[in-house]
Formats: sequence, structure tokens, C-alpha cells
Amino acid sequence: MSEKREFGFETKMLHAGHIPDAVTGSRAVPIYQTTSYVFDSPEKAAQLFELKQYGNIYTRINNPTTSVFEERIASLENGTGALATASGMAAQFNTMMTLLRPGDEMVASSHLYGGTYTQLEHTLKQLSVKVHFVDPTDIKNWEAAITPATKALYGETIGNPKGSILDIEKVAALATSRGIPLIVDNTFASPYLCRPIDFGAHIVVHSATKFIGGHGNSIGGVIVDSGKFDFSNYPSVAEPTASYHNLKFYETFGEYGFLMKARAVTLRDTGGCIAPFNAFLLIQGLETISLRMERHVQNARAIAEFLNAHPQVDWVHYAGLSNSPYHDLAQKYVPKGPGAVFAFGLQKGSGDVREAGKSFIENLNLFSHLANVGDARSLVIHPASTTHQQLSDSELEKAGVGPELIRLSVGLETTEDLIWDLENAFHKIAH
Ligand SMILES: *Cc1c(COP(=O)(O)O)cnc(C)c1O
Repeated sequence: MSEKREFGFETKMLHAGHIPDAVTGSRAVPIYQTTSYVFDSPEKAAQLFELKQYGNIYTRINNPTTSVFEERIASLENGTGALATASGMAAQFNTMMTLLRPGDEMVASSHLYGGTYTQLEHTLKQLSVKVHFVDPTDIKNWEAAITPATKALYGETIGNPKGSILDIEKVAALATSRGIPLIVDNTFASPYLCRPIDFGAHIVVHSATKFIGGHGNSIGGVIVDSGKFDFSNYPSVAEPTASYHNLKFYETFGEYGFLMKARAVTLRDTGGCIAPFNAFLLIQGLETISLRMERHVQNARAIAEFLNAHPQVDWVHYAGLSNSPYHDLAQKYVPKGPGAVFAFGLQKGSGDVREAGKSFIENLNLFSHLANVGDARSLVIHPASTTHQQLSDSELEKAGVGPELIRLSVGLETTEDLIWDLENAFHKIAH
């Protein structure tokens, strides 16, 4: 019984990162609702601040409840460690602030979450970081956009809104050969459907707000490091850090160097930490993630097939359908199913399709009209008038979000009830 066993995903989602509390015996992960931690001695305090010993100092930097969440997600993503943040946007921003310096460039897929697009295009520009957006479906586009200033590649496992699947292995191989880390946003897949690190991605980010939490009640984010990128010639992680008594993070911490800097410098200085209560709720989400994702993809597949056969539907972008251009990549990267978030287009009839889209949404009852995905409940949105409204017309066109496009996040309800709800709305807009 003493041999080392490699536990399965479901075992890890329930146990990784936590043993019953030594003092109280508490089986559930306790919520350590505290800002700070008493030092054993002045010497111990000095060691903690110098990073000579790892321990709790202040909840902006670390917290025992949050640590369980971090260790659990790192285990599920096959990473060496993780850093939780206040939101998905904060996870992305922390990663970029840790890696990039003014004058650096990044190459990113153009099939991105709308908020990520504005973060990369506008906010990074303020910091003098230029991002080149490429059609991610051809590796030659990535290659052509890399310059000597490129310091990161960025893409999403399942791209919004086309349902495109990133060829992670190819992009990661290119990244590695050029000494550039590949960052993958794995939000839409969740670690249950895809583990980008297994295909060579160097850093994974998540909006834990979505499928990880899974119940639409908490905003949170997380960065997972593969520990496999060689940062020895990568200035921001290898060179002495002035704001940390010239510590060389990669030389000192090796495979933990990037995450240590992300925590001890970037999180310390930018402050986007997660609340312990939110970390607790995200842990609750992780404990059922395999069951929920199985059900999410089962419902999503049934609804995609229903829509695909519907006379009032022009197109369905779901990589699980055999007519999807991403079907083969989906078989490779997300064999259990390409998630539960996808878009479809209403048939452009004689009337105004923008009005038809609005009316369709108004006539749904079970699907909630809101700006989120990955809830246990089914959700719907019309991006051109909501999530993507800050984008100019040409940017909208580039992101592929026309006025006919409706996005669904399929929840866990009874399949036939969801189809009934959609059929009702189709019926209403036909008159
Ligand atoms: C929601 C989302 C984000 C941003 O996450 P927040 O938790 O809302 O800050 C980033 N990427 C993707 C794919 C998302 O769906």
C-alpha cells in the first residue's frame, strides 16, 4: 500500500492541496477570514519577508484557504504551482506585468474574450507593450508576427465566438523554439476538458468565475505555471529585481521563479488578490467539476444539434458538430466535448435581424439574459449590443460578431426543457 500512486482527476478535485485541519479536524476546507498572521519570532518574520522561508504574512500575498485552491488547481492542470487573483482579468494582467517590460511585444490570437481584447489592445498599449493580433488557425500567422521584441504568445483553448480550437501543440512548439512562453486561457474548457500544459503550454490562466466556480456566485482568477519554461535568458524573471533587494527570481527559485515573482512582486504591488471566502466557493466548485462538465457538454451537444437542424438558424459555431472546421482539433484537444459556450446565427429573413435577436432573447424564460458564462444555469447574450459594444464596427467584423449572433452558455437543466424554451422563442419571432 505504500507505493506512490498517481491519483485520477476526480480524486484530485476532492483532495488535492488539503488534509483535515490538524487543530480542529475540520474535513471541509476552513475559511481563514484573516488579514494577517502572528509571527513566531522576529527571526522567523525576517525569513518570511526575505522569502527564505515560505509562509503566511498578509492575505494580499497569501492565505491558507486560497493556498488550498491554488494547490488543487495546479494539481488538476498538471502545473507546478498556481496563484489565485481577484478575477480572470487580474490573472491575465498579473501574468503580463510579471513577464513584460515597456517596449516588449506580444502576439495574440484574435479569437479572444472581448475584455481580453481591450486589455491587450488598449491597457497594455498605455504601458508601451504592443500586441499583434493574428488569425490563430494558421501557424504561419504566429510565426510571421514574432519579432525580436516578442516576449509572449497568447491564445484561448476554445476561442470566442467562433468556437475555434487552438492548436496548442503547434503554437507551444513555436514558442519554445523561439524562447518565448505561451500563455493559454483555458477558461472555456476547464481543466476537466483540456490541460494545455500537457500539450506544451507554459502558463495557463483562468477566469475561475466561470466553470471552476460553476455557480455564478464569485469572481476569481488563477494563474498556473507549468514550471517548464526556461527563463534563464528571459530578462524580467532572470535579472535582479530592484524592488526585491535585487533578487534573481529564476536563479533562486527555478521552476517556481515566475510564480514567486508574480506573487511577491506583482501581486504585492498591484494588489488584485482574491478574498478567502471566494477562494472557498471556488474550491466548492472544483469538488464537482468533472460531473458538471460532463453534463454541460452533454446538454451543449444536444442543443447544438437541435439548432443546426432548425430552419430559423443560419449557422452554429460548435466544434463538436461534424460540419465544424474545428472538429478534428476538438477531437484532439477536447475529446470529452468542446465546452458548453457557443454562438449561433439567426436566419436573416425579410425583417431586421438585430431586432429579431433582441426579441428572441426577450422570449426566452429558462435562459437568463446576462453577461457571464459557465453558470450551472443556462445563459444567453446578444454580444453586438452588450459584451462587444465597445468594439468599433471593423473590430466587430474582425472578431466575427454580427448582429445575428446569439451566444449561449448551456447549463445543467433538463435537456428537453432547454430545447422547449428555445423552440418557444423561435415560434414567437416567426410571427
Ligand atoms: C470571463 C472571462 C475572462 C475574464 O474573467 P473575469 O473573471 O470576468 O475577470 C477572461 N477570459 C475568458 C475566456 C472569460 O470568459
